[in-house]
Amino acid sequence: MTGHRWGAVGHHLDGWRPDGHRLDDDSPKDACGVFGVLAPGAPVAQLTFDGLYALQHRGQESAGMAVSDGDTLTVVKDMGLVTNVFDERTVGALQGHLAIGHTRYSTTGSSTWRNAQPVYREVGTTGFALGHNGNLTNTEALAAGAGMLPGTVASDSDLVAELVARAFATDSQGQAVGDGLEAALTKVLPLLAGAFSFVVMDSGRLIGVRDPNGFRPLCFGKLDAGGWVLASETPALDTVGAHVVREVEPGEMLIIDADGPRSVHPFPPERIDPKLCIFELVYLARPDSQLYGKEVHGARRRMGERLADQAPVVADLVMGVPDSGIPAAEGYARRSGIPYGQGLVKNRYIGRTFIAPTPEARARGVRRKLNPLKENISGKRLVVVDDTVVRGTTARAMVGMLREAGATEVHLRVSAPPFAWPCYYGIDTPSRDELMAARLSVEEIRDYLGVDSLAYLTLENLVAAIGAPGSGFCDACMTGVYPVEVPVALGGDGNGARVLEVVHQGG
Ligand code: SF4
Repeated sequence: MTGHRWGAVGHHLDGWRPDGHRLDDDSPKDACGVFGVLAPGAPVAQLTFDGLYALQHRGQESAGMAVSDGDTLTVVKDMGLVTNVFDERTVGALQGHLAIGHTRYSTTGSSTWRNAQPVYREVGTTGFALGHNGNLTNTEALAAGAGMLPGTVASDSDLVAELVARAFATDSQGQAVGDGLEAALTKVLPLLAGAFSFVVMDSGRLIGVRDPNGFRPLCFGKLDAGGWVLASETPALDTVGAHVVREVEPGEMLIIDADGPRSVHPFPPERIDPKLCIFELVYLARPDSQLYGKEVHGARRRMGERLADQAPVVADLVMGVPDSGIPAAEGYARRSGIPYGQGLVKNRYIGRTFIAPTPEARARGVRRKLNPLKENISGKRLVVVDDTVVRGTTARAMVGMLREAGATEVHLRVSAPPFAWPCYYGIDTPSRDELMAARLSVEEIRDYLGVDSLAYLTLENLVAAIGAPGSGFCDACMTGVYPVEVPVALGGDGNGARVLEVVHQGG
């Protein structure tokens, strides 16, 4: 079998710092979307394109896919959106029965073509490709343990692919023997710590893996026309004409080949502890996604209903901050009886504009992105529902715009507890000193934002609103209790739980 890669050498895109972080936004960012399909006779490259397009919100920095026809495994990837990287001609040229795909938002490593995924490795004449959503917390230890010099691996996925390639059993000619990819993964996976949902493939197998905590989602579906699909979120299954079979379980390796799907559990049972990122439900996942069997839009609406019970206020209009604050605003309005209306229009074509990292420039960025509907707002007492306030710069600028547009009162309601600790499990968050809730009390935040009142949904109400009893969640960015140890090098104290000191905890 032969493998090869196409694609241009990477370049920095406007609006992206060299480390890959956006400058003009104030929301936590997801790390990646993954997709995989095994469907002989189907246009797998086209299905992968469609699946990645449905997962574009999970990463806009680079996109790529690997396609196998059983003989040749071809990887195409480049910087940019799915539609920048692939056109009809590229997709049409990729023939095969098996493919994986990836959209990337970087959390580790620089924003270059080298870090685009899937990554590809060869062992003798065998090749495999891998796409990763998440963030490993023991990268340094793994690299050192494998005798790699610092800086020799470009990213977590590069490191994992290298470890897997080295774990292949080979004969004296360097050719892979035995179970190849499956056996190598079984050796390497238990060594990994942190968050990882992988899609992996060789010439004939599609493999999905979820870490023992299941931080990042990964769902498994069946194509109505025949074949199997893996995807970060269920809307990607809907888009390609597949129905959901189930979520890949935390700690499960799902192997799909010509004989169908088969489940393997490579992690020790004591490590299995479901901790789905609760922020997937609050903000990150699409509203039409199903997580823990619940539609995300409904969960967000219930968060708003609970917020109305928990923090009522007398007002004339409830509005949501587009887009992800809107379902919670609908819930707040429904429960409170205060009319719901649109107060802000979002420019959907904002794209990648360069903004210098100053508060003034961020405020200008907000004006580019959001514009008030003056007739709806003028003379009104507003309840504004948002899903998260991270640095506070966006919310502050937005409140200023609403007041300029004639709002007489602005009451901010946030559908999650204060975001006070950084994430180490695949979400791109600012450092702790940039997280407003790590430095200020709720009253100080209210004063800084210039709102008449401020309330955050409690963690208890957030979990109750999701309505998946018995399901485990990670809530470390709100509680400081980290399910997987955060090494000192990443910002932890090396002892695992509660790695960062609480300064103020909001209500
Ligand atoms: S720390 Fe927060 S953002 Fe990160 S995985 Fe946990 S809940 Fe999600």
